[in-house]
Amino acid sequence: MDNFVYTMNASRVIFGRRTSARLGDEAARMGVERVLVLSTPEQAAQAEAIAANLGQRNAGLFSGAKMHTPTDVTASAMDKVKELGADAILAVGGGSTTGLGKAIAFRTGLPQIVVPTTYAGSEATPILGETEDGRKVTKSDPRILPGTIIYDVDLTLTLPFEMSVTSGMNAIAHAVEALYAQEANPVITLMAEEGIAAVARALPLLQVDPVNIAARSDALYGAWLCGVCLGSVGMALHHKLCHTLGGMFNLPHAKLHTAVLPHAVAYNQSATPLAMEKINRVLGETDSAEGLFDLASRMGANMSLKDLGMRDDDIEPALEQVLSNPYWNPRPLEEGSLRILLQNAMTGRSPLAR
Ligand code: NAD
Repeated sequence: MDNFVYTMNASRVIFGRRTSARLGDEAARMGVERVLVLSTPEQAAQAEAIAANLGQRNAGLFSGAKMHTPTDVTASAMDKVKELGADAILAVGGGSTTGLGKAIAFRTGLPQIVVPTTYAGSEATPILGETEDGRKVTKSDPRILPGTIIYDVDLTLTLPFEMSVTSGMNAIAHAVEALYAQEANPVITLMAEEGIAAVARALPLLQVDPVNIAARSDALYGAWLCGVCLGSVGMALHHKLCHTLGGMFNLPHAKLHTAVLPHAVAYNQSATPLAMEKINRVLGETDSAEGLFDLASRMGANMSLKDLGMRDDDIEPALEQVLSNPYWNPRPLEEGSLRILLQNAMTGRSPLAR
């Protein structure tokens, strides 16, 4: 056993079917009286219905959450916090809504309850990425970590299958990079393996029946484990590449992760044989990069960065930015190999195609 240091992130996790009915009890347990409810515009009605479980503790709804947590949206939500005299935050939705709740908590110290409805995993991390003037800045702080997570499997039934696939691959990406993280530890490794396995076995079942409760339950459970991985150890090439490409070319978060992951894994494969063995075992494959590519493709995901909005001319500026900001990766960053990685990901061909 290698030496390790592991600081656990403490959150209260409530998991199951119709668990959002317990919101009122949870708010009472926390001793809060005026909970501000957050959602995207698309999920306003769903958030309102769930917030009814808060009873008199429901202070009101702010439904303006947006992808990448723009600071002007946070400023408007902060006005709402003051106007309503909120003493807690409830975020109902995916990573975008959770991000807004975290941004408010970071500024105010207010306690957070998150009811996640995608597989992004943000609810399990002390990390916040905020965008100001088109630049995304990431910070980590204990105030950002939500104190209570209520996973209600029934709320994920409305997540369209296509988004379930890309969000699920986004979750798997957290666990994959946790397996070869610099700070890897045996507990996170267990969670990573179990997280990848749970999401990977759920997706093919959801392809046949998107409201299969057992599969939805597995996917959400896996997403939680993968989120814990993301929040506990440092990420490497895959997450940094997605951060750079997403920020520079405004590409959709989960779809971008899906298209890049097999290529990032192929890049790191030779430097991380033990992690690859684990991924192969849980996927039942002989090549992790190819296995992840096949899984996402079989589920109908678009694997081409070009289709997501990136242009051939974007490759060189992206490379320049990736190389200008060196960070730890199990395999050193090499310009020529990274260029090939991006060229392959542009076309949507398998990382093993030569
Ligand atoms: P999202 O939150 O942007 O949601 C995408 C769309 O799906 C939204 O319109 C949302 O309202 C809708 N939606 C969500 N759940 C639904 C459901 N069950 N049924 C129907 N519609 C539903 O997407 P996301 O991928 O969850 O989050 C992406 C954002 O999260 C990015 O900004 C990313 O940077 C951030 N993120 C942060 C972390 C972190 O640890 N800080 C981790 C992962 C993702």
